[in-house]
Amino acid sequence: MSQEFDLVVLGGGTGGYVAAIRASQLGMKVAIVEKEKLGGTCLHRGCIPSKALLRSAEVYATLKESDKFGVIAGEVGYDFSKIQDRKQGIIEQLHKGIQYLMKKGSITIFEGFGRVMGPSIFSPQAGAVRIEKENGDQEMIVPRFLLLATGSRPRTLPGLVIDGSYVVTSDEALQWEQLPESVVIVGGGVIGIEWASMLNDFGVAVTVVEYADRILPLEDEEVSKEMARLLKKRKVNIVTSAKVLPESLEKGEGRVMIQAETAGGVQSFEAQKILVSVGRQANVENLGLEATEIKVERGAVVVNEHFQTAESHIYAIGDVIGGLQLAHVASHEGILAVEHMAGQNPHPMDYTKVPKCTYSRPEVANVGLTEKEAKEKGFEVKVGKFSFKPLGKAIIYGENDGFVKVVVDAKTNDLLGVHMIGPHVTDMISEAGLARVLDATPWEIGTTIHPHPTLSEAFMEAALAVEGKAIHN
Ligand SMILES: Cc1cc2nc3c(=O)[nH]c(=O)nc-3n(C[C@H](O)[C@H](O)[C@H](O)COP(=O)(O)OP(=O)(O)OC[C@H]3O[C@@H](n4cnc5c(N)ncnc54)[C@H](O)[C@@H]3O)c2cc1C
Repeated sequence: MSQEFDLVVLGGGTGGYVAAIRASQLGMKVAIVEKEKLGGTCLHRGCIPSKALLRSAEVYATLKESDKFGVIAGEVGYDFSKIQDRKQGIIEQLHKGIQYLMKKGSITIFEGFGRVMGPSIFSPQAGAVRIEKENGDQEMIVPRFLLLATGSRPRTLPGLVIDGSYVVTSDEALQWEQLPESVVIVGGGVIGIEWASMLNDFGVAVTVVEYADRILPLEDEEVSKEMARLLKKRKVNIVTSAKVLPESLEKGEGRVMIQAETAGGVQSFEAQKILVSVGRQANVENLGLEATEIKVERGAVVVNEHFQTAESHIYAIGDVIGGLQLAHVASHEGILAVEHMAGQNPHPMDYTKVPKCTYSRPEVANVGLTEKEAKEKGFEVKVGKFSFKPLGKAIIYGENDGFVKVVVDAKTNDLLGVHMIGPHVTDMISEAGLARVLDATPWEIGTTIHPHPTLSEAFMEAALAVEGKAIHN
């Protein structure tokens, strides 16, 4: 006998469990199939643990400078095992929260590996799910709608084998019992720069080797440049336009060495660990997709604007469809997909309104087009910029590096993009996201009264700066 559901969600990560809750709100009978733990990458190996470690690093870095605030902290140190315990405690607390929400929504959880079936005796159309349990038992469930939310895993460079000891990804690094003395980070994107900032704050010698000509290559160029300047000031070694040569890897005596081709010739980098952060790869394998009409292109499941695959009752969202692999993107896509299943007419996903954040010190955040992208798209561009240097609240915090930059269409005054680097900008970017959703002009942002003293004044001033009206510039 097989159980029937309105919706089965394959994968209980951020995208999957949020979609399940929304479906339950809409009156559907819902099940999630999860092979590990509810919460997925974000909760167990991504957003949450990395930010917990970053927060400990920030507290440590602040305490080392306590003198600056007139605070006498005495000898400052850290106990990495306690830091890891705190991180684990946060994960467990949030994991319990998700389990509670599943109960509240009467969502059935199946533990095991889910595989999608083609047309079979259980269902004339593809989409029944066979659950393979750890003890070897199998169970079949039949949904009216299926949502693929199987997420992603770390990618490596061809030939660069992750051994979990000398050469690791963020998955293994998050489990370190103690910190190494030195790390070479291959890849200077979001994850690489968060690790560089955090490890440097803990006193680890860090080298970042990046293939592109700048770190954070998807950010506005001025933001990348400012981040590189600030990290270099903290003695992080940054090497850009560098092609890592996996075949050069040598290990031994607690050290590991790798070479990279750079403009100045082949350079060698040596450290106790190599952390590979070169992107993520969608989990599309072994799902049984070949028994269906579902298409996989460039390693990701192909969907239309409603997140339907080529089998219109099977949807896919989150990291498994590629694109912007972010937790809030996965959950928003999940909500839209489920609302579409329920016959609603949800607004289409607009990826130019998605905030993207890097939780380094200082933080980086953006929404919309960079100045260069806007010009490439043919916009005549006006820019407003405001530095955190003179801002009261930033000076009070003792963190006044960075700036806010506003990119505007000179013809229509439409806000095309907002780019921030500085203290707490990952919290500030939501206002810019709302401004984009509401089609606010720089005039409207500039005339919105912002409380003083706050960091958010920098956004108001940057908007005013578009017309040369910033007060404190
Ligand atoms: C170090 C790191 C830091 C990050 N920081 C951030 C951040 O600060 N902010 C942000 O927005 N994003 C961040 N991300 C990205 C974020 O974690 C992902 O975008 C997000 O988790 C994607 O959600 P998802 O639901 O698509 O997939 P996942 O969270 O990966 O969940 C997929 C789930 O499916 C399960 N699964 C897979 N296959 C099967 C199967 N066949 N049967 C049953 N279950 C299956 C998996 O076990 C997993 O639980 C970070 C990622 C990493 C690695």
